[in-house]
Amino acid sequence: MKYKAFHKMSYGMYLVATELDGKKSGYIANTAFQVTNSPEQVAISCHKKNKTTAVIREAGAFSVSILKQDLDVKLIGNFGFMSGRDLDKFQDVKTQTAQTGMPIVLDECVAWLDCEVRQAIDVGSHWLIIGEVVDSEVVLDEEPLTYQVYRDKYKMFSPKNSPTYIEQDALQKEEAEAKAKASDEETPKEEDPAAEASAHVCVICGYHYNPEEGDPTRGIPPGTPFEDLPDDYKCPICNASKEYFKEV
Ligand code: FE
Repeated sequence: MKYKAFHKMSYGMYLVATELDGKKSGYIANTAFQVTNSPEQVAISCHKKNKTTAVIREAGAFSVSILKQDLDVKLIGNFGFMSGRDLDKFQDVKTQTAQTGMPIVLDECVAWLDCEVRQAIDVGSHWLIIGEVVDSEVVLDEEPLTYQVYRDKYKMFSPKNSPTYIEQDALQKEEAEAKAKASDEETPKEEDPAAEASAHVCVICGYHYNPEEGDPTRGIPPGTPFEDLPDDYKCPICNASKEYFKEV
């Protein structure tokens, strides 16, 4: 089996939100898709261990915000990689209340769907939750974010509880094998050893620390090597500490 084959599948990127007893909950999803047109129903695949999953099932409703391509990745960091137990994900985002009573996150959103749960199918690690769309709206006339752009432009991974998560070690091993095979067939290229040695990636979310750019969000000036970052430096996307960065 080739893991890379799964990366050839196309998906969008969404923010799923719900609410129960005044407490909002939400997460980033790439698996949201329309399953019928009469009535209009969509499915989402939710990990059984995620807090939001239990809330959706109990609340009986959820909203889907369709994210825009050119977005502030902090939203993905907060909703995709942080736990609601550590952070109030909704404190800095603009929301509106849907017909179902669910919160709709409007930040970085091109359109939204408001859904009532019709069934939940047990698919092992996840619940496949099917909701009927009772309302929808277009917010912005902009391109939606695709999963491929998310991976290629923002260099971010799927969190471990995502239905499309692939072990990074398994993927890197497969890529290394493919590169080794390709280099057997090519003439060797000169490489820049300094550039090769200085790249660090967050193993939680995939954020690349580039020493040439530094990290303006954390006040790190351009030209700062990874080794010179303060000990309390944290990933700007998922808040992971320095020991979660791996040299690549
Ligand atoms: Fe990170």
